[in-house]
Amino acid sequence: MNYQIKEFPHLQFGSIYCIGRNYAKHIEEMKSEKTADPVVFLKPRSSIIRSGSKIELPSISSNVHHEVELVALIGKETFHVSEDKALDSVCALAVGLDLTARDLQSDAKKAGLPWTLSKGLHSFAPLGNFIEYSSNGTVDVQNMDISVHVNGLCRQSGNTSGMIFTLSEIISYLSAHFKLNPGDLIFTGTPEGVSQINRGDRISAAMGGNLSTLEVDVDK
Ligand code: MG
Repeated sequence: MNYQIKEFPHLQFGSIYCIGRNYAKHIEEMKSEKTADPVVFLKPRSSIIRSGSKIELPSISSNVHHEVELVALIGKETFHVSEDKALDSVCALAVGLDLTARDLQSDAKKAGLPWTLSKGLHSFAPLGNFIEYSSNGTVDVQNMDISVHVNGLCRQSGNTSGMIFTLSEIISYLSAHFKLNPGDLIFTGTPEGVSQINRGDRISAAMGGNLSTLEVDVDK
């Protein structure tokens, strides 16, 4: 795996922070509870694949789900940032998939164990192209359509206006506990409609119209 970011050759991917339970209807479909603070988990950076690569379904799961999400790329060291300055730390945005072995995650939840195995398997973090972002620019991160199609059929279609915790709030919260570094990624949660992917499926995801797109096949 090459950890360099092709659109930002001076940067390498770093830590991958993910936010769970960030859209009300997804919380409903998962029969989960809304939380007072963001739910945070991590994926290893080895789970990243880029558009055009293949998702490899693992033998230990029989139920892998797509979760389409807006992904933010951190461009500078960030620690204890306020919400009003938080978006200054973002240098790019992309569409991504937080792939999830739902059966393993359910078992982990029931046992009170971490989600790492269900979320961090090889190829479980497909990423589309990054578009440059500036907090002074015209792109509104809280009004971005995100969608995913499987074999041409729309499975998830949402808008980042539905986030419970905004990207500013997420970054401020994360930076209160973790030192964020250039190259770190933040997956911001998924709207409703998560469902199973199968061998041979063709998956297309998009953010903000076609600002960022992602095309990946599931290995046969
Ligand atoms: Mg997710």
